[in-house]
Formats: sequence, structure tokens, C-alpha cells
Amino acid sequence: MRRRHEIESCHDPGQHSLRLVCRRARPENTILDVNGVRIGGGEITVMAGPCSVESEEQLISIARAVKASGAKVLRGGAFKPRTSPYSFRGLEVEGLKLLALARQETGLAVVTEIMDPRQLDLICRYADILQIGSRNMQNYSLLEEVGRCRKPVLLKRGMSSTIEELLFAAEYVMKGGNSSVMFCERGIRTFETSSRNTMDLNAVPMLKRISHLPVIVDPSHGTGHWWMVPPLSKAAIAAGADGLLVEVHCDPQKALSDGPQTLRPDRFDQMMRELRRVALAIGAELPLPERPQP
Ligand code: PEP
Ligand code: MN
Repeated sequence: MRRRHEIESCHDPGQHSLRLVCRRARPENTILDVNGVRIGGGEITVMAGPCSVESEEQLISIARAVKASGAKVLRGGAFKPRTSPYSFRGLEVEGLKLLALARQETGLAVVTEIMDPRQLDLICRYADILQIGSRNMQNYSLLEEVGRCRKPVLLKRGMSSTIEELLFAAEYVMKGGNSSVMFCERGIRTFETSSRNTMDLNAVPMLKRISHLPVIVDPSHGTGHWWMVPPLSKAAIAAGADGLLVEVHCDPQKALSDGPQTLRPDRFDQMMRELRRVALAIGAELPLPERPQP
């Protein structure tokens, strides 16, 4: 009961410690502006792309495809946190350069993971949104470092973290002076083994109730199965999510990371069409892609 009490006590700022993140501090929803893309303002923002940046050809073809389906932000890891040190760990600086090239080619904003406080200047040079990964949600020196800059932060929930711990992680970033934070629910570890994680959609209305910050859902890591991504994306939007983070690859079987949870562009496109109808049904909007210039 203590936890529940502590979360609810954020309605009593001053005495307790969720001072900046909770709704009492700011009753209206925070809307983040990322190069003209508004996150949290009623339009659903879809961020899509490969788990890892692998090559120029791979990234540009995926970026063009997801843009044509209506994504507004390109995702792609250049520095990858991998369970095994022998797995592919990303193209590093070369990957960041390719992300910048893809932004130039498509106009999409770019989100990529920062793993270490020493990378702040480097990643800020290339990214529009800094992703804090699940494994780093409680890396307090990293949270304080991204708090010092003004780039929007996508803060992923730790795979074994409570909602309260996620809220306090965001408080660290905001306390540093960076108020552009969005949460990302990406599934949690439970006793269930049929899916990679258990998508905790409770987090969406809970976070929206307690905090004014936008909430993004990542059904790729949340489920670990590409065929579960469309139904869980629909459920996330119906539950009130402000956006989605989705892994897409032209040849998922050859992807260097997370292939089994990755959608092909044709399936992503079909999903986006279905999501538009779900958004409409709940009074949100998922805008159609811009028509390509003739
Ligand atoms: C990712 O987005 O590719 C990733 C590593 O996510 P997470 O930190 O949620 O595992
Ligand atoms: Mn991944």
C-alpha cells in the first residue's frame, strides 16, 4: 500500500517528491515539439524503423517505406545494449551519420539510444530525440546528464521497474531542467514466457492520470512477436497512448537484432491503415502520409 499511497501523494507537491512530473504541477497535457512534429497533442505519433542501423541501403529503404505509411519519426539504434557482448552492438558513430543522412533524405525526425553520459554531445549532434533504454532507466548519472540538455527524451520503462520508479526517473530528467520528456511502456518481465515481455497497458491510463507527459507504447519489445504488434498497437491507441515505437525491416529474417518482433513494410502499412480507424473511433487522429512530390 505504501507505493500506491506515495504515487497518489504527488497530488500534494512540496511534501512529496514528484514535483515536476505530476499533474498538479501542470494540469494540461505537455505537448512536445520535435522539428514540427507535435507529440501528445491529440495526433498519434508513430516512430518506426529498424532495431539497429545496419547499412545505408537498409536504413534509407526502411525510412522511405515508413514515411510513405505515415510514420513521423525514424527509429534506429547505433549504440545497442545487447545481452551478449558477442552480439551485434551497432555501427556506433557510422550509424549516427546514417541516421542523419536518412533525416536529410526523408525529412523524418530521428530517435536513437544514448547509453552513456559521455555520449551526450555526440548523440545530440545527430538525434532529434534521445532514447533512454530499458536497461538504463535507473542510470541516474545518465538521467542527470540528459537533464542538462534541451533535446526531447524518450524514457523507456525498465523491464523490471514499477510505474512509480519510471515516474521518478522522469523527475530526475526534469529536475535537471529538461522538461521535454515522454514515457515509453515497452513491456515488463512477468512469469509468462510465451511472449518476450508482458505488455503492461495499465501503464497508459495510469501514467496519463498521474502525469502530464506524453506516453508512447512499444509493442515490438513488449511482445517479441511481429504478429502481435498490430493488435497491441490498436489496444495501445484505444487505451490512450500518444504514440507508438515500432520495429520495421525490409527483410526481418536477416535483421542483425530483434528480427522476430520486426514488421515488414507491407505489414506495417496495413497496420497503419487499421490504426487510423481505431484512432478515429476514440476521437484521436493518425494523419495520412503526405503525398509524395511528383
Ligand atoms: C530498442 O528500442 O531497440 C531497445 C533496445 O529497447 P529496450 O531498451 O526497451 O529493450
Ligand atoms: Mn530492438
